[in-house]
Amino acid sequence: MHDDDLKTDEQRRKLVKLAASTAVVLPLTGLVACSGDDSSGSATEQAQAAADSAADAADEAANAAADMADDAATAAGDMADDAMDAASDMAGDASDAMADAADTASDAMDDAKDAAADMADDAKDAVSGAAGGLPELEESDPVAQALGYKHDASEIDTAKYPGRGAEANEYCRNCALYVAGGGGWGACSIFAGKAVNAEGWCASYNRMS
Ligand code: SF4
Repeated sequence: MHDDDLKTDEQRRKLVKLAASTAVVLPLTGLVACSGDDSSGSATEQAQAAADSAADAADEAANAAADMADDAATAAGDMADDAMDAASDMAGDASDAMADAADTASDAMDDAKDAAADMADDAKDAVSGAAGGLPELEESDPVAQALGYKHDASEIDTAKYPGRGAEANEYCRNCALYVAGGGGWGACSIFAGKAVNAEGWCASYNRMS
């Protein structure tokens, strides 16, 4: 409790005491003043005793009131402290929960990314494995002829396909549609079910970005 609170309690205690004493003593003093001379000594003593008794009672009442006020203030202070502690705990719990949720979300994203990467690798391996067992595309294949496909890109008729010169550095192996299989051959989505040569080329060449 602060010094100011102690001063206030002390002042309150004195005021209650003074009021109680005055309330009792004033009427008694009046009674004494009105009594006759013969009996004044005895009456005054009785009045004084009554006043003392009343003052004591007032004192006790004032002390009890002050004690009650102190108890109430202490209880209120304790309740306020408890409420602040509870609020602080709740804020801490909420903060922890948010951090946990962020970690969980981050872990889930990492797991999803890993799973997607694994799936992409599996798909690539599957295509690559399949290309290894695919029959070679025949240059006489009607679609291959229509697209000017050659197993050896140097044999491309550049008069017919002027966009594909030796300097163009265009081969199946660096075409976006090519999936390497093995032994210099790979799969091509243009020629499904057939293997094209890594050093080949056709007019559907698509440069990798
Ligand atoms: Fe080769 Fe690409 Fe033509 Fe397929 S599309 S044959 S991979 S150049």
